[in-house]
Amino acid sequence: MNPVSDVPMTASSAAHPRTAQRLLLAVACWFDSDAGGPEDAGDDRIDWARAVPFFAIHAACLGVLWVGVSATALEVALGMYALRMFAITGFYHRYFSHKAFRTSRTVQFLFALFGAMSVQRGPLWWAAHHRNHHRHADTEHDPHSPLYRGFFWSHMGWFLTRRGFRTDAASIPDLMRYPELRLLDRFDILVPVATAVGLFLVGDLLATVAPGLHTDGAQLLIWGFFVSTVVLFHVTVTINSLAHRYGSRRFDTRDNSRNNALLALLTFGEGWHNNHHHFPGAARQGFRWWEFDLTYYGLRGLAALGLIWDLKPVPVALKRMH
Ligand SMILES: [Zn+2]
Ligand SMILES: [Zn+2]
Repeated sequence: MNPVSDVPMTASSAAHPRTAQRLLLAVACWFDSDAGGPEDAGDDRIDWARAVPFFAIHAACLGVLWVGVSATALEVALGMYALRMFAITGFYHRYFSHKAFRTSRTVQFLFALFGAMSVQRGPLWWAAHHRNHHRHADTEHDPHSPLYRGFFWSHMGWFLTRRGFRTDAASIPDLMRYPELRLLDRFDILVPVATAVGLFLVGDLLATVAPGLHTDGAQLLIWGFFVSTVVLFHVTVTINSLAHRYGSRRFDTRDNSRNNALLALLTFGEGWHNNHHHFPGAARQGFRWWEFDLTYYGLRGLAALGLIWDLKPVPVALKRMH
């Protein structure tokens, strides 16, 4: 018997069903995040089949070549960007990840829905990874440090892996108590699909009742959903990839976080990332009056309406120092 010729045959015949099963599981995960199973915990390879919807959203932006553009389409794209950026920064980040203020269960769910429209998965997945980022910032255990794994990894490689797709429930026991949030997280494709369909229907309606706006269903779908979502995504993740590399450091934190005014403008205040790593609990990330923090102004507005309360302030000592 020749052991050398025996081994590859056995290995390859076992590999095919496993590959097919992997593919099926990846496709199942497009619709049900829990379909993946627990064996993926340490797998840092990019799961290309699982990532197809992510690349498809990028490819769909090419639709602008067919649908054209109108002022209405651009306004809707901008409005969708602003609403979802605020939901991500104000709620996915400052509320769900850091508990920087308090609110009712209804408002919590409402902004979880707005956040879920961003196609950045559910609030539990987002907050779990972000808490782990703060816990291990710019060490080898940081999910997305540009210092350890480079730009591409910190920008988008990290969450396209089997490990990255998982939600670390142990990091978010306080959020796991809410079945409605667990549902948003598990079936995270539902809200984005409903958003896309809704935009198409609104555009279709406008084409009939307000033809002077020169828009239609396909145009609002491409600009309001696909283009706006892709821009929103890439701007959001600059806080992982660029704000740990480029900018100034007011505080000597353990990590390499930076304050970057341009990123703060685009992300509604998240670019004051060195401030944020120094004192993550505050509802405000711009510590000086001139440090533009649109999310904080929005949160103050919601507080004035009584929808949120107990906004955690920046400690006075931190404002005076440095
Ligand atoms: Zn950071
Ligand atoms: Zn944070």
